[in-house]
Amino acid sequence: MNEGERPASILILGGGTAGWMAANLFQHWWGKLGTRVALIESSDIGIIGVGEGSTPQLKAFFDKIGISEQEWMPRCNATYKAGIGFIGWSDRPGFESYFHPFPSTADAQTANKFFFNTQARRTGRDVWAHPDRFFLNSAIARQRRAPVTAGDAAFQTSYGYHFDAVLLGRYLKEVATSRGVEHVDAKIASVELAESGDVAALEADDGRRFEADFFVDASGFRALIIEQALGEPRRSFAGNLFNDRAVVAPTPLPKEGPGCCTLSTAKSAGWIWHIPLTNRIGNGYVYSSRYIDREDAAAELRSHLGLSDDAEVRHLEMRVGRVERSWVRNCLAIGLAQGFIEPLEATALHIVVTTVEGFIAEVDSGGMDEAARDRFNDSMARRYEGIRDYIVCHYRAALRRDSDYWRDAAAMTELSDSLKGIITAWFRGARLESEVAAQDIETYYSAVSWHCLLAGYGNFPDESKLRPPGPDAALVDMDEIDRLIAGGAEAFPPHAEALGMLEDAA
Ligand SMILES: Cc1cc2nc3c(=O)[nH]c(=O)nc-3n(C[C@H](O)[C@H](O)[C@H](O)COP(=O)(O)OP(=O)(O)OC[C@H]3O[C@@H](n4cnc5c(N)ncnc54)[C@H](O)[C@@H]3O)c2cc1C
Repeated sequence: MNEGERPASILILGGGTAGWMAANLFQHWWGKLGTRVALIESSDIGIIGVGEGSTPQLKAFFDKIGISEQEWMPRCNATYKAGIGFIGWSDRPGFESYFHPFPSTADAQTANKFFFNTQARRTGRDVWAHPDRFFLNSAIARQRRAPVTAGDAAFQTSYGYHFDAVLLGRYLKEVATSRGVEHVDAKIASVELAESGDVAALEADDGRRFEADFFVDASGFRALIIEQALGEPRRSFAGNLFNDRAVVAPTPLPKEGPGCCTLSTAKSAGWIWHIPLTNRIGNGYVYSSRYIDREDAAAELRSHLGLSDDAEVRHLEMRVGRVERSWVRNCLAIGLAQGFIEPLEATALHIVVTTVEGFIAEVDSGGMDEAARDRFNDSMARRYEGIRDYIVCHYRAALRRDSDYWRDAAAMTELSDSLKGIITAWFRGARLESEVAAQDIETYYSAVSWHCLLAGYGNFPDESKLRPPGPDAALVDMDEIDRLIAGGAEAFPPHAEALGMLEDAA
């Protein structure tokens, strides 16, 4: 392959969600231009089989490859997701929980008022500054509505999904192969490098050899090509993200059916996710093995879920960090092979899409030379660090102090300059939205998200120190906000009804 040309053939190693998403995207963008796309996976090894929550990027992915919700959602037991509720991360009265909403057009009218009030409260005025009353998706989740409306509705909102990871992988495989992606079941035993150092071929344990112009490493935490063969170092995030294990168990749906949000409940050494699908609830305790062992973590999960002491659970290990460069020679790493932050904000599949699309855009505009690789790798590194900082901020800003885990998290000093800038702006009473804009980090997490996090845990002066707002700070009429949000929420159907309509259409 000559530099500057699109690859004639792409071989993806790994048939987890990351591999099949990439296969669909490459086929969609480059298949019609003549690039041959193939995917190798090993049915002996299987996939990780967790990762059941998304950001709105998954909707953008399906829209792009032309698949409707009616087609894919019922096949994957999928539900709508308006955002994430954080429970028990703070013991500040009035701030024991908060909701992190995906944004909506209605937020344009309320977000600035929320920003204004949080700044007033940070500077000691007694005004309402908990996020939940300001955002449409918070009301939608509370009222168990679906964040979808008819196209001509006054308010639109953005949303993600919950889905069965195994069914989603199978579905994406079916779509990709029906559109021309070649599928091979083989267990790769070694990676052959050419004299130049590029990847020449993958060799299976039965002697088969697979060549391609370009390789995508989607082999999960094994990182078979990028790390094991090409030797790209991995930068660990363990210094400020303590969690390295998870223990998972499903539970039946409650009788009121699935809600439309993920819940994240703080526990003694981590947090437990609650992800509602149409047929079950997915639960998992993400914890740090430095603070709790696997048996105690499993016991804490079972007790949280009301399960018996011998209820079956599954244990997982997590490698938290990223490869230094995602694109090395003729190989692009995606999914868990590329990196993993931790699942708190369900960002992994989001990064898969931005990595593959960023790569395609870079090659289409700049070719495949050294400069294009450097530009792309810098932008991926910034994205990882940007998302990592937001997750780190959850632990740093949480106001829970009842175990060593939470006390150490609050005392953590290994913070990036960017995150220090955010935290300093917040506690000095500066305009946080200006700091987010000045740092140009809005594309990773918006000013709304940063405000929700810091305000949601109650990072304000003690209530006893607050003074009456005074005329300058009493500008936000909370009754009007309540009316606006309540009126907006009425346009959205009950979640159960929206899911029923998808089933009927399928
Ligand atoms: C506890 C936990 C919770 C998570 N929650 C979320 C979430 O809510 N949202 C989210 O977006 N993400 C989440 N993730 C991340 C998510 O699970 C992954 O990003 C996603 O499943 C994609 O994984 P993958 O395809 O990279 O790897 P895998 O699913 O592990 O797939 C690896 C593939 O490589 C193949 N393979 C490996 N070695 C070989 C070989 N030698 N020969 C042939 N084939 C091989 C395997 O057979 C498999 O097909 C979570 C992860 C963890 C650990």
